[in-house]
Parts: sequence; C-alpha cells; structure tokens
Amino acid sequence: MRHTLLEKAYKTNELTKAEITFLLETITPEEREILYSKALKTKQAYYGNKVYLRGLIEFSNICRQDCLYCGIRASNTKVKRYRLTPGEILACCDQGYELGYRTFVLQSGEDLWYTEEMLSALIHQIKRRYYPEVAITLSIGERSAETYQSLFVSGADRFLMRHETAVPKLYETLHPTMRFENRRACLNTLQEIGYQVGAGFMVGLPGQTPADLAEDLCFLQELHPDMIGIGPFIPHSQTPLGSEKGGTLEDTLVMVALTRLLIPDSLIPATTALGTLHPLGRELALKAGANVLMPIITPTSVRKQYALYENKICGDDHPEDCRYCIERRIQAVGLEVDLGRGDSWRFISKADIFG
Ligand code: SAH
Repeated sequence: MRHTLLEKAYKTNELTKAEITFLLETITPEEREILYSKALKTKQAYYGNKVYLRGLIEFSNICRQDCLYCGIRASNTKVKRYRLTPGEILACCDQGYELGYRTFVLQSGEDLWYTEEMLSALIHQIKRRYYPEVAITLSIGERSAETYQSLFVSGADRFLMRHETAVPKLYETLHPTMRFENRRACLNTLQEIGYQVGAGFMVGLPGQTPADLAEDLCFLQELHPDMIGIGPFIPHSQTPLGSEKGGTLEDTLVMVALTRLLIPDSLIPATTALGTLHPLGRELALKAGANVLMPIITPTSVRKQYALYENKICGDDHPEDCRYCIERRIQAVGLEVDLGRGDSWRFISKADIFG
C-alpha cells in the first residue's frame, strides 16, 4: 500500500490529504530511503545537479509580532536588538556580490522603522548598482498590499513568507497577534502582484499531527508557490515554548522529500534550522530533494542577535567562511554550485509565455 502511494506520488505528483496522512503515520525507515531517492530523481529532472545560492542578510531583529516559538518575539526582553542602516545593508550586498552571490535575501522581524519609502529607495539602489544581474528577495513579514506593490515596482523580485502551519487553529494559538486568513491573503496578494513567492512551514510544532502536516502539503499544492522553506521547530528557552520538544531530522526530511514529489518544480532550500539540528542536516536535505542554500552574509558583529532559535550555526563565522564552507558541502554530496539568479521553473515558463 505505502509502496503504491510512493509510486503514485512519484509518477503523478498527486496525493490526497488522507493518503499523505497515512504515509506520514506509517512510513518505515526503508521506505523513507526510497522516498528520498525518488525526490532526488525528481529534483534532478527539473533542476539537474545544481544548487542555487542566496546571500542572506538579517538586517533587523526588532519585531512587532509575538510568535510563541520565535526568539526575537516582541515580548522577549532579553534580546539585544539591532538594526542595520541602509548604508550597512548596501555594504553587505557589496561583500556578497564580491563573493559571487546574485540573489540577496533581505530578512528581518516585522520592523516598521523601515518605511515603505526607505525600503523602496534601498531596493532601487541595490538593483541599479548591480543591474541586471541581481535578484532581490524580501522576507519582512506582513505589510499592506500597497507597500508590497510599491516595493515590487522599486525592483524587488521575490518574497518569502512562510505560512508556518496551514491549520488555522494551530496557527492562531502560535501567533496570538496574527490571523491565518491574513497570512493567506498576503501570499495571494504577493502572487497577484507578480512576485516569485516562497511559502513554507515548520515541522514538529507543539500539538502538530501528521494530518496537520498533510494539510500543509495540500495548502502548498493549491498555492503552488515558487519556493517552499521547510525547517524543524527548534525550541528557544526565552519563549513560552522553551521546554517543548522540537521537530526531528527524519520528519523534516520526509516533508522535504514529499514536497519535492508533490510540487516538483518548486525551489526548496536546505534550511539553516536543519543544519542546526544535525551537522549534515542540509546535505541530507539536498539528497532528499532540496536545491537551494542560503549562506548568511549578515555582519558577524550582530549575527548572534538574530537568534530565532538557539545554537543557530555560523554565529562566529564571516561571510567568506560561509561561502566556501557551503561550496565544499555541496561538492561533498556530488552536487554543483550555481551562482546564477536561480529562478523557479514555474516563473521561467510563465515569463516565456508572456515575453
Ligand atoms: N518576519 C519575517 C521573517 C520571519 S523569520 C516573516 O514573518 O516572514 C523566518 C522564519 O524562521 C519564520 O518564518 C519561521 O518559520 C522560522 N522560525 C522562527 N522561529 C523558529 C524556531 N524557534 N524554530 C525554527 N524555526 C523558526
């Protein structure tokens, strides 16, 4: 039965919620290996052996939201807060450009100090400076449709906003200041504007069941984003979930692999959280269908303050350390670094139709 389901997922890229739930509840270690190898084959069919790199700039850890799992939540008074100025962000981009990155991901807490005008000017400057090579990805949380529109017009290409969990009740327990329907509406708006959109979720959240994880995959099948970020939940002691159990390596890899089978043309990062959970977590994700890595280029002086979870890797490293460490890791599993923009197939084929 499970073999037939794996075969069906591989051949048709479709499973129902009941089928996914059944698989998650009963999969054996041997079947996990079969799943990973089918996911790797599927990745290769769409993206070959290439792994795309993005330089990640964590530009502010100030946040107005209060997500129960997150180390930089507004109520955590123990975090030392920081903001990089637009000039400092540009300096990170210069360094990243020198290291070969052609996508910059600008990520932060929800920090309204960075107004629409400031962000627009910054995006415009980055795009002009490296025109036409560089893509800009934003990951700044919820803003108005008008702001999303004007940042897109200024030159932002992509937007990452994980849906975190597609189960509204669980979502709202974990995000006391937020609503699932707003999250969904933001993702829809971003797609309508024309961004390449990244969604995604955490694995092993307190109270999350296999049926809940199946719901995440169904949600993603419907949304069909360009990128899907999946990471284990890792407890942070300065949050209300500090003494909960975190997500496991195996459960996260299974979700990465199933995502590759069900949304085969998506870009899937091997996340820093997986690398934190296990020394080879990211390499294992690359072998189970992931095809993107996001080395950190945040200045070493503030890195440790962007602690969404504890023991995050690379805290003492410099951008050049991460660049070459990542390259070695990719080569060690027989894959190749691609320093191009790395657009999703879905985006490229849409552009072909219209352009
Ligand atoms: N403010 C932005 C960026 C959020 S931080 C936004 O709302 O999109 C990036 C991601 O880190 C989050 O989407 C969440 O999935 C993940 N994250 C936060 N805390 C975490 C934790 N304790 N364990 C694992 N991942 C976490």
